[in-house]
Amino acid sequence: MSKGFVITIDGPAASGKSTVARRLAYEMGLQLLDSGAMYRAVTLLTLERGIGISEIEKLASVAELIGNNLRIVMEKGDRVRILFGSRDITEEIRSADVGKFVSPVSAVPEVRAQMVRAQRNMALAGGVVAEGRDMGSTVFPDACVKIFLDALKQERVRRRYIELIEKSKDVTIEEVEKEIEMRDSIDSSRSASPLRIPDGAIIIDTTNMTVEEVISSIKQICANKGCG
Ligand code: C5P
Repeated sequence: MSKGFVITIDGPAASGKSTVARRLAYEMGLQLLDSGAMYRAVTLLTLERGIGISEIEKLASVAELIGNNLRIVMEKGDRVRILFGSRDITEEIRSADVGKFVSPVSAVPEVRAQMVRAQRNMALAGGVVAEGRDMGSTVFPDACVKIFLDALKQERVRRRYIELIEKSKDVTIEEVEKEIEMRDSIDSSRSASPLRIPDGAIIIDTTNMTVEEVISSIKQICANKGCG
């Protein structure tokens, strides 16, 4: 695998990015760059430290700390652990509170600047599957393959609801719909790196596709382009 080899997978909340990116990274022997987990980790620390959304310097220094100390560790199969130093924050970054505040924190340009720096550094070491909102548009504009995953909103809501219920979370489908709408709206309208289809990206609508079908079509695209 050549150095710096990057496949980007962007898309809105619950479009299937995480599952697809994990399995693809595992099956292709690449490092996973879960940028959503990085923004969630910044948000977790921000909440724990009682930092307000207008305290830009403190937000930026938390982002720098996360950028330098977060590790995304792939385990057997497609399991992933998120470590901050020696602390395992895999579960905590998925809490309802983090979900509520992650989009406003991610919209702060100083936070994004730190994240972009760290993400590019992570890709220097070798091949990666980079998953998020701005991977193909801002962080890795020269990526070998750029994918934009999408799905109808009702299907995205249904998937996220099932995922949360399976984890025994106490939520209603209306609450899930509201959170997804809120995140879609902030992520798409912010001025710093809004969610958009990157130049040169291939759009895959996953509404009626299984995970296996999505993965096999991305592998085919990579093979056609000579990436991987
Ligand atoms: O992918 P995930 O749902 O974990 O992302 C959580 C949030 O992190 C997104 O809703 C978005 O606000 C932010 N994010 C971002 N840029 C990325 C990845 C995630 O702003 N590249």
